[in-house]
Amino acid sequence: MGQTLGIVSRFPDHFAHFDVGYYEVKDVSGVWHDPVPGTIPMVSVFGDNRQAKRHPEWVQVGPNQERATRDAKFFDWDALCPSRPDVFSLGVEWVKDALAKSGQKTIRLDDVTYAREGFCQCPACLEESARRGLTADAYRSERLAEFVAAVREVAERVEMTLFPDPLPGHLERRFGIDLSRLAPYVDRFVVPIYDLHYATTYWLEVLAQGFSELLPRPFFIELYSLKVPEDAVVHAAEVASAYAEGVLLAYENQLPKLLRIRERLGSE
Ligand SMILES: [Zn+2]
Repeated sequence: MGQTLGIVSRFPDHFAHFDVGYYEVKDVSGVWHDPVPGTIPMVSVFGDNRQAKRHPEWVQVGPNQERATRDAKFFDWDALCPSRPDVFSLGVEWVKDALAKSGQKTIRLDDVTYAREGFCQCPACLEESARRGLTADAYRSERLAEFVAAVREVAERVEMTLFPDPLPGHLERRFGIDLSRLAPYVDRFVVPIYDLHYATTYWLEVLAQGFSELLPRPFFIELYSLKVPEDAVVHAAEVASAYAEGVLLAYENQLPKLLRIRERLGSE
């Protein structure tokens, strides 16, 4: 495999062995972990259970007043609304903090998204879309692009995680992510395609190929590897690397396993 091989890890001593390392500075629970120097900080921006608890009015609202919290059917975490000026500026502050404390110039944005179709219909969104004379969908795309543009002002390079749905129009319709609008501000997209086994890889290939045709920028595919059989990770990485510029292995806690995978991918 000639491409980049990186990791997403909570273990600082693992990073030196790979081309690139990502460290979650803030995850969806809202807990902050100070950056590890030399790694790219990842910040979950609009996914934040802690802020949602503190500021219930910041939570995204969908059809039938459904709130985007983890108690609701479709959600695993709470989603804050990007229309709220406080949420928007807090997001930029988190990015600034992560960059300052890591000494990095690259930020990776996680959860810069609306929760799903029909979100958000909170008072801030209704008011602002009406003021701009935009449909709800057009407004969502514009607002997310504004946020990424604001991040680009404080970071030299921006990487952005995408939900793994490459079907035409889906990212925009489901999440308010308009790739052509984001392209000027994003240097690399990262697509997590997770499985606990990777027992078959045809679906991984379908998604990888879809993104290779869809994305206006080089992208990495991130594979889950904690407790996933080593042979399966190697095979999945080989498939992913046929389409992506690099492969990231996420959350493995066994360094010897990671090193063996690295050797196998390097020699094949
Ligand atoms: Zn809203």
